[in-house]
Amino acid sequence: MTETATLQQALARFFNPAGLDRQRQRVCRYLLACRTEAMGGTVLQCTDCDHTQPHYFGCRDRHCPQCQGRAMHQWAERQQANILPVRYYHVVFTLPHSLNGWVQLHPEARENA
Ligand SMILES: [Zn+2]
Repeated sequence: MTETATLQQALARFFNPAGLDRQRQRVCRYLLACRTEAMGGTVLQCTDCDHTQPHYFGCRDRHCPQCQGRAMHQWAERQQANILPVRYYHVVFTLPHSLNGWVQLHPEARENA
């Protein structure tokens, strides 16, 4: 059986801030601390047996796969709702630079393209 390492596990093993700018260092530190005691949290307690279990907060960083997994799933469901029962093709092309101003004024057109 092959075990899959998480990004957090990989960072815990290989993170080296040397050579990274401050922004990347900060993101790595958030990802390392996500859902650990370092982020703080609360203690959940069973009302029947008094069993307690810590629940640590997420980092909510946009790069974090643990925190953004739910948002990504919800986005995918919204996209699925818009799919028509036809064959799709993915097309990528570059607009002429003369249209840059128009695209900036109409961001909804870019997102729906
Ligand atoms: Zn996180």
